[in-house]
Amino acid sequence: MYAVTHFSVGLMLGQAVGNPYAACALGLASHIVLDAIPHSDYSRIVHGVLDFAAVVAIACISIRAGAGRCALFGGLAAAIPDLEVAVAYLRMERDRSPCKHEFLFPSHNGLIRHGRLRPPWGVCTQIATVVVVWTLLRSALV
Ligand SMILES: [Zn+2]
Repeated sequence: MYAVTHFSVGLMLGQAVGNPYAACALGLASHIVLDAIPHSDYSRIVHGVLDFAAVVAIACISIRAGAGRCALFGGLAAAIPDLEVAVAYLRMERDRSPCKHEFLFPSHNGLIRHGRLRPPWGVCTQIATVVVVWTLLRSALV
């Protein structure tokens, strides 16, 4: 999934749990669950830059709205596993070689299923995931 999707879900989970350690654990766990949901990924650097900018924008908006450090820890922990994918892609671009990379994170190395779906449906599943998590957490906390 896009980093902004992972970050948004981790942010909400971290804010809900209110403990920085639990926020990090939930953020990492949410990455695995979200990667299993059929979704589209991108393969162009410009999309990665836009995705990163969206993460920064969501973080800034959340801080201004009063999100605490637990929310940010959750968001960062949820998004950080995709850093290995970004680094591998940038290395491939630099070397201009289609070399195979060894990934560590279980939803990236094949240990746990990684769902795939073409756009626009692969984007719709990401939007729906954020909305469902937001709705569930909102109703659970009210
Ligand atoms: Zn991932």
